[in-house]
Amino acid sequence: MTAPIRIDADRLRSILDGINGFGRNAATRGFDRVGFSDADMAVRRWFAARMAEEGLATRTDGAANVWGRFGPSEGPAIVAGSHLDTVPNGGAFDGALGVAAAFEAVLSMRDAGLVPKRAVEIVATAEEEGRFGGMLGSQAIAGLVTREWLESARDADDVRLWEAMAAQSLDPLAALDARRAPEEIAAFLELHIEQGPILEREGIAIGLAHTVSGMASLSGRFRGHANHSGTTPMDLRADAFAGLAAFAQEIPTLIARQGTAESRITIGKVELQPNFPHTIPGEAAFTVIVRDTDAAVMHRLVAGLQKPAGKSAADHDLGFDLDVTTWLDPVGLDPALFQDLTAIAERTGTPHRPMPSGAGHDAQTMQSLCPSALIFVPSRGGVSHAPEEFTEWSAIVTGANLLAEAVAELALR
Ligand SMILES: [Zn+2]
Repeated sequence: MTAPIRIDADRLRSILDGINGFGRNAATRGFDRVGFSDADMAVRRWFAARMAEEGLATRTDGAANVWGRFGPSEGPAIVAGSHLDTVPNGGAFDGALGVAAAFEAVLSMRDAGLVPKRAVEIVATAEEEGRFGGMLGSQAIAGLVTREWLESARDADDVRLWEAMAAQSLDPLAALDARRAPEEIAAFLELHIEQGPILEREGIAIGLAHTVSGMASLSGRFRGHANHSGTTPMDLRADAFAGLAAFAQEIPTLIARQGTAESRITIGKVELQPNFPHTIPGEAAFTVIVRDTDAAVMHRLVAGLQKPAGKSAADHDLGFDLDVTTWLDPVGLDPALFQDLTAIAERTGTPHRPMPSGAGHDAQTMQSLCPSALIFVPSRGGVSHAPEEFTEWSAIVTGANLLAEAVAELALR
């Protein structure tokens, strides 16, 4: 066995800083590289040029994913990467770290004089954060995007994906050509921040994800009667908000009885009607997001929500409906690749633990195309999607070294 690959930490930092030279929000210290914005497109051009400067064969596909290839020009590749877009006012590490670490992995392999048997490709995916309700870049690579979806997708401000791409001189239908064949990609590896508190709390450097939680989105409504808040006695009300509040109280009990340690149920959006301080709410429209790593548990929890909702409606003299609007099954990442990463972590003396991913990532989409793996590094305070997002530099180096070692091992196999 050869000595492990060591990444150049200063060069990794300069690549990450280079990416974060785009979309910097001086007022908040966050980053705005929302999918298909000017800053998002500019960072893609910069990254492609930076890879070309290092002698990699680079290209940008029809979905605006940027690729760089090292090693044989033919045959299946080991692909490593993540996304370059951010949420509005996002942090410095989400996505950008995985792209920078993949690039550094290739550069450190090259500097170590390694000649890969299989090519290594770096990918910087597009629109992972779901501005248009999906993970366009990786879904296009996996062949999961349809013409109908490209034509109909809109963002929260009602901007059509079609127009957002056209405004950047992109042909939206070209996203269909970004599809890769399964035989072209031997494995996909993504380094990402955990975006949760577990690794920091346990003082463990690396999380190796075996599963990505599924997600069910529900849309609900309690219907009562809007009325005067001063003249209507408390026992004669049909208060839609009171019903919703009572329902929300029952969620921890439902999880305790029918869920698992990985279950998450969130009422994240509520709209009251008429939403006026002096009027009893006549209607409460709300969303519920149910997540778990086991589809059967998700089904049980989603079904289990009906009973407390019905009881709450009856107690408060309300009508109600609660329906599933979208459903994403949990994704099991590749067990053999997970074992490979575990073995490399053991061999290199890297403290690690297996864990599920509560958040969605490109790796879950790529798993439908090729064996995929997800490596986590700790997030300070579990904070992400905010300017306060932070990972200690020593943890980043540990994660980047593990990624580089894994990429090298797979490419030399
Ligand atoms: Zn991300």
